[in-house]
This record gives sequence, C-alpha cells and structure tokens, in this order.
Amino acid sequence: MMELDSESTLRAQIKARIKELGKAGMFISGSFMRTERKCGSKKCACATGGAKHPCCLLTSKVNGKTKAIYIPVDLADEVEGWVAEHRRVKAMLKEIDELGERLIKIHVRSRRRRERNIAAARGCRKEESP
Ligand SMILES: [Zn+2]
Repeated sequence: MMELDSESTLRAQIKARIKELGKAGMFISGSFMRTERKCGSKKCACATGGAKHPCCLLTSKVNGKTKAIYIPVDLADEVEGWVAEHRRVKAMLKEIDELGERLIKIHVRSRRRRERNIAAARGCRKEESP
C-alpha cells in the first residue's frame, strides 16, 4: 500500500519547522490597530471637534477583557511587524501540532505493519527449514 505520510517524512517536516521557529524574530500577541484620539490638551484643536491625532494600539484579550496599550508613534511600524511575526509563529506551532498528531496515528499503523512483516518472515523461515 502506498502511504503519503511516512513517520520519517513527518519527523523531517517537524524538524524543519522547529528550525524555522528558531529563526523567528521578535513577536508579540495581540491585534495592531491604527486609530485616532484626543491628546487631552484643552488648547488643542482636537478638544473642540478638530482633527484628532493618529495613534496606534495593541489590543489583546486577557481573561475575556480587552486590554489595549498605546504604541509610541516611532515604534508603531516595528510593533506591527512583531504582531505579524506572532501570527507566523502561531501558524507554525499549529502545523507542528498537526504533524505531531499525524505522526502518532501513523506510528501505530506502521508498527502493526512491521509486526505483521516480522510474523510473515518467521512463517517463511519455518516452511524453509526441514
Ligand atoms: Zn490634540
């Protein structure tokens, strides 16, 4: 029977992803958001309905509540990259999980097949002996 997955192929695929994980850059969980806000100064135009100030937020859920932190403007692009990297790392972890589950399932099947082959080989040798 042809099998698409072999245990050794799966182990190699897992190893490659773990190696890729090791090359990951800085990452952070949460959602990156660009929005606007009032600066708080009563003298500023934003206080009297004028244009608000662009700002960036990092939001995440903590115990079911949304937590938001302001990101300094000069760090915004960098943090946006961290968020993207976190998504990539999370996707790789999920793939490793799935490959690991396939490996576990296939291991039992291939062990049974090996045992059958060994049993069959023993059967042959018995027939050959006088
Ligand atoms: Zn303002």
